Amino acid sequence: MRLVIRQDDLKEIIKMTERSAVEVCGFLFGRREGNDFIVEEIRFIPNRLNSPTAFEMEPLEMVKAIDRAEERGLEVAGIFHSHPKCPPRPSDRDLKGMRLWPVVWLIVTSKGEVRAWILEEGKVEAVEVEDEVDSVRGI
Ligand SMILES: [Zn+2]
Repeated sequence: MRLVIRQDDLKEIIKMTERSAVEVCGFLFGRREGNDFIVEEIRFIPNRLNSPTAFEMEPLEMVKAIDRAEERGLEVAGIFHSHPKCPPRPSDRDLKGMRLWPVVWLIVTSKGEVRAWILEEGKVEAVEVEDEVDSVRGI
């Protein structure tokens, strides 16, 4: 499995992570092609817990973002959030979220570490992150 994301999008998530004392979170919108999750658009959603160790996306903003993406033919390919102080591994709380949202979970740290995970048959599997420059994509 691979998560294909633009370098600029990834940089933006890392930049926001570095600037924020609390976890940042949001959606990776795009599509799935076989074993590849292709990200077309990232969207930050406010973390209503305002916590450095947990996140919960603001529900109304979630719905709005998903509606807007669907209008443009995009689906939820993944969810991203940051771990300002912890390694980029899913927490117990994240695992619960992963059961509700069985998409790719991208976790970024303030040190710029990037890891992606997916829950498959109850097991957490690593997903390879491939960041590409825009010109490579050819669309
Ligand atoms: Zn987490």
